[in-house]
Amino acid sequence: MTAADILGAIGIDHELYRDFEAICDFGGRLSGTDGERRALDFVARRGAEASGVACRTIPVPYLGWRCRSATLTLADGLAVPCYPLVRTVATGPTGVEAEVIDLGRGTPEEFEAHRADIGGRIVLVRHELMFAAGTIHRRRKYDMARAAGAIGFLIAGSMPGGAVAGSSGRGEGGDGIPAVGIAPETAARLARRAKGWPRATLRIETEEQPAETRTLLFDMPGQTDEWVVLSAHVDGHDINESAMDNATGVAAALAVTRALAPHVRNWRRGVRLAFFSTEEWALTGSARYVEALSSAERDAIALNVNLDSIAGSSRLTVLTSGFARVEPFLLGVAENEGLDLRCVRPLQPNSDHANFALAGIPAFRLVAGYDDPAAQLRFVLTPGDTRDKVARSELATAARLAGAITAAACQAEPDVARTWR
Ligand SMILES: [Zn+2]
Repeated sequence: MTAADILGAIGIDHELYRDFEAICDFGGRLSGTDGERRALDFVARRGAEASGVACRTIPVPYLGWRCRSATLTLADGLAVPCYPLVRTVATGPTGVEAEVIDLGRGTPEEFEAHRADIGGRIVLVRHELMFAAGTIHRRRKYDMARAAGAIGFLIAGSMPGGAVAGSSGRGEGGDGIPAVGIAPETAARLARRAKGWPRATLRIETEEQPAETRTLLFDMPGQTDEWVVLSAHVDGHDINESAMDNATGVAAALAVTRALAPHVRNWRRGVRLAFFSTEEWALTGSARYVEALSSAERDAIALNVNLDSIAGSSRLTVLTSGFARVEPFLLGVAENEGLDLRCVRPLQPNSDHANFALAGIPAFRLVAGYDDPAAQLRFVLTPGDTRDKVARSELATAARLAGAITAAACQAEPDVARTWR
């Protein structure tokens, strides 16, 4: 069988879109929900069928969090939609009642210019397109708000009628300020007036208790003890189907595995298929996995191919995490496939590849729609992240590229793979 035959199988694999839809059917798959558990059960079964090997399950303990209720009430008594950011602190029964200071996008300059105004107020900032150079991450804005003495944090999405989701950035059991996502209309109602900053009341009730999720591994050995780790995260947010982020990556990883599994034993390196959860909780699942690896086990991983939000635009990018010498290899594979591929080098801790990279393991994230404001990926973390945003052809093309990269990485000569580190 030629490489084209192996990869051609991915392009015509009807199970790819079927798996994608089946994963969307579980709902947003927020860690700790029944949807997450059922999705992990499904992926464990499909991973075993695709790889022909038994699933190895690693328990992942974490501090579970659930929001019992979250309300935001404007000064005129109107209750507006809001969505608690993952792991936000609670407010206490009476809530936090304060003036809201709108800092626009929430750049460091805006925080600095208003430094004297922020203490004791609720900060309002805007959610930004995540997949773009220069994006200021929600977590940074949250940290700046806290550091300046804010007592609450509102982040407004751009999708009318939809509150934006995300993680609060607060560590397990740590201190923090109450934080929710809101819709753009709400942000407009909270605009500053001549008579002053508008007031609002934020009330959040949560519960926290020890919880456990799973990392699922499927090892298909090659001829040496080296590995290429092909990964995707299963969890998401419960305001949508978490379709682009990341049913696309999970379904593609399964399709790549189906196509490659019969051939891996003849290749130099094996494929370790890895599914993580609690990715949306500060990358907890992959952090625990990488921490537990011995240095010999880390050395044996030649490359981490992390698939996260790979359809929703036909433009594909690899975030190469500072591993400059992986770039010519990836570009070569894409050119062979007749695909344009962009390399973005700075380490971006926005998915599980970052934990591999921080441990010195060459790692990258394949992502669609980077630096493309018109891409469907603009709906990620909003109620609009649903299956209708994903074209079959885009998902198939991204999966095929992921398969080509994984196959080539398994077969790369040792003197080539050595340069990646
Ligand atoms: Zn993701």
